[in-house]
Amino acid sequence: MQNYVSQIKEGGIVAFPTETVYGLGASATNPSAIAKVFEQKGRPSDNPLIVHISSIDQLSDFTNYPLPKFAPQLMEKFWPGPLTIVIPKKASVLDSITAGLDTVAVRMPNHALALDFIQQTGPLVAPSANKSSRPSPTKASHVLADFGSSFPVIDGGPTEVGLESTVLDLTSEKPTILRPGSISKAEIEECLNSEVLEDNQQTDKPKSPGQKYSHYKPNAEVHWLTSEDEIDQDDTLFLLVNSETSEEHIVGYDGDYQKLARELYDRFRQADLHGYKKVIIEPFHKNNSPVAAALLNRIEKAIGK
Ligand code: AMP
Ligand code: MG
Repeated sequence: MQNYVSQIKEGGIVAFPTETVYGLGASATNPSAIAKVFEQKGRPSDNPLIVHISSIDQLSDFTNYPLPKFAPQLMEKFWPGPLTIVIPKKASVLDSITAGLDTVAVRMPNHALALDFIQQTGPLVAPSANKSSRPSPTKASHVLADFGSSFPVIDGGPTEVGLESTVLDLTSEKPTILRPGSISKAEIEECLNSEVLEDNQQTDKPKSPGQKYSHYKPNAEVHWLTSEDEIDQDDTLFLLVNSETSEEHIVGYDGDYQKLARELYDRFRQADLHGYKKVIIEPFHKNNSPVAAALLNRIEKAIGK
């Protein structure tokens, strides 16, 4: 760990596990380290980064107090955890982090290794540790597949949640979900006892610029299962969320949406490694599970809608 801490302090970048996906960490106060993150990922510079902190006192480097109305309650309830809040930024926050916006996105990951690492390095920007357009990494091996076998990565095993954090804007009149994640709209509404909006980002200039890019995609074509599909095409990987069947290319999840969330990106990557031409997923409704809305969002993006 010490070696990785030194690499960050010297302006390098190191991948590390969080509960959502692996992050590509760089010091949130080092412009050239941040430039390396964009360069290594091939990330468009108008896609802002999330600042990851390990303790609440670090927040004052990024925003002025008092915090927006709902922030303290949300931090109390969901941090450390997969909730990113978008709040007004302090003037000193680097433009490369916020893509020139006047807000900054911050979260505290719920992962012992990540918290220990950030405690020693100071706050880190940490976009998902994949090349842009590849599925996010949920295992250290995914990071190495994208960045090469000698890339520095802290291996914490497979990540627990498997999908990126919920991004919640607290700078609008009502709290607004900019990206769904495993913390659902209903859970946030219950915590705040107030209505939460969802921004479907269907504009050329979405509030969360990252949402206009199609990521999360394998090379295989992804689509929803229809009545015309035969479930025995062997060039196809089937993911059946409400079935029990399990064969090599037919994976049943028996209603376990959390498990599908945990495995989705690995399945996408496996599909490419095994040369499947298609990944066909059984449709489901966003009310089926707290994580269903986030799954639908990632799958729709992989389909290319
Ligand atoms: P990633 O780091 O790849 O998980 O992507 C970060 C996500 O957070 C992207 O969808 C960004 O658009 C979003 N984001 C980061 N900073 C802001 C901000 N200041 N305002 C709105 N969305 C943001
Ligand atoms: Mg990403």
